[in-house]
Amino acid sequence: MPVQPLEGEHAARLRCVNEQMDLSVCNGCGECRLRCATGVQMSRLEYDAIQRFESESLDRDSIAKVRRQDKSVDLGDGVSVTMCRYYDMPSGRCAVYPARPLVCRLLGHVEWMPCPIDKVEKVVSTPDALALMESYSRYSRKTFEEWDAAADA
Ligand code: SF4
Ligand code: SF4
Repeated sequence: MPVQPLEGEHAARLRCVNEQMDLSVCNGCGECRLRCATGVQMSRLEYDAIQRFESESLDRDSIAKVRRQDKSVDLGDGVSVTMCRYYDMPSGRCAVYPARPLVCRLLGHVEWMPCPIDKVEKVVSTPDALALMESYSRYSRKTFEEWDAAADA
C-alpha cells in the first residue's frame, strides 16, 4: 500500500509539475502511441483512481469495449507488441486519459522521456520532475495486471 504520510508532499510536487506541462501540444497527436504498450506501472492510489474513473464514467460501456479489444500490434519481421488494456486500437486514444498514471502524463514532457517528434518545446524543469519522481518512488508500483492479482489475493 502507498505510504500515506507522503501524500501531501507528493501532491504538492505533482501540482508543481502539472502546472509546467503544456498538454495542449499533444491534443490530437498520437505519434508516441507505441509507448502505450502493456506493462506501465502505477501506484495503488493511481490504480484505484483508474478503477473509480472507469466504474463512474458515463462511457463505461465504451471503456469495457476497449478492454475487450485484441491488443496485439504486428510490427513486422515476426515482432509484435501487446498494448495497454486501455489503449483504444481503432482511435489510438487512451480510454482513461483523465485518470492515466503519472508515467503516461510525463511522457514527452520530461528530459528523460522526450517527445519522439520534438513537438514539445518546453519540458518540465528537471529538478522539479526529479523531486516528483523521488517522492513517487517511495510508493509501491505495479502493473494493472499485478494490482488486479493483489486485489484478488
Ligand atoms: S508527446 Fe509528442 S508524440 Fe506524444 S502526443 Fe505529445 S506531441 Fe505527440
Ligand atoms: S493508461 Fe492510457 S496513456 Fe497510459 S499506457 Fe494505458 S492507454 Fe496509454
